[in-house]
Amino acid sequence: MKSDNKNIRHLSLPALQEYFGSIGEKPFRAKQVYEWLWLRHADSFEAMTNLSKELRQKLTEHFSLPAVKVDTVQQSNDGTIKSRFRLHDNHLVEGVLIPTDSRQTACVSSQVGCSLSCKFCATGYMDRKRNLDYDEIYDEVALINQQAQETYGKKLSNIVFMGMGEPLLNYKNVLAAIERITAPDGLGMSPKRITVSTAGVAKMIRQLGDDKVRFNLALSLHAANDKKRSEIMPINDSNNLKELIAALNYFYKATENEISFEYILFKDFNDSKEDADELIKIYRQVPADLVNIIEYNPIDMARFQKPEAKTAEEFMEYLAKNRVNARLRRSRGKDIDAACGQLANKG
Ligand code: SF4
Repeated sequence: MKSDNKNIRHLSLPALQEYFGSIGEKPFRAKQVYEWLWLRHADSFEAMTNLSKELRQKLTEHFSLPAVKVDTVQQSNDGTIKSRFRLHDNHLVEGVLIPTDSRQTACVSSQVGCSLSCKFCATGYMDRKRNLDYDEIYDEVALINQQAQETYGKKLSNIVFMGMGEPLLNYKNVLAAIERITAPDGLGMSPKRITVSTAGVAKMIRQLGDDKVRFNLALSLHAANDKKRSEIMPINDSNNLKELIAALNYFYKATENEISFEYILFKDFNDSKEDADELIKIYRQVPADLVNIIEYNPIDMARFQKPEAKTAEEFMEYLAKNRVNARLRRSRGKDIDAACGQLANKG
């Protein structure tokens, strides 16, 4: 459990140096501790073995280190690994490792639950309990990175913020976590390998542009007209497609980072030729690199179904004929409820 002590990972290196100065310790000790916290990802003061016992004791008395713990792990028959992580206050979030021949991708959560209530998503049926702190998001990534190395002998190559929660409604922590994930004294990953996926918060998409972020952005589109989109994603009532298109263009102008769309195919809802035409129209209004067409993974609470394979194929062919760079993303980890939209399904 977290104590009332201040979380040591909420201190910057200069603040840590100041603290070490105040207790008469040499400044290089602060650097050593900082390295333990981020680069070496220590989950307790006890683990910092090159510090004296007295110093470790002092740190324990003064600070807390509420590290995220792996609670349960499930491995799919396609190699996907889903982990349930326990936070210091016993809340649970899920993260997924998706291995392919060329990539090791982590799909991470940014909130406990979600407030956006998308109708096709299991997390959307939970309330939002709280935001994850940036050190907790960092822990998720570091723990999945460890799994990738232990299981597949490779480090993580990509990260997608497509797990539980809306990352742009936990803006500060997501950006701070990415800063640590990309820092040379953190996980040292390239921001070009990170994609933040949003259900569409126009104001914060513009903020990403103003902040000149270096990671990529994906918009969960899922329906290409306002009526249908509002039906499955209530956030569309306050952030309609016109506003989102304008915000995405603003983001691109400010950063030139990659933009992609996510589009889950739902049987008899958004899988017709007319739907494809509307999708093409939106694609042409945004400098998007890619449309990921995603196979729907049924969840217990929703009425949607997956279209026939032939319908999906025809949809893809039609997009290709109209020069849309689209890719059909097959589900991974379906058997363990680790696939897109399934996190938090079945408890
Ligand atoms: S799809 Fe994303 S934004 Fe929508 S309810 Fe699920 S977690 Fe929240």
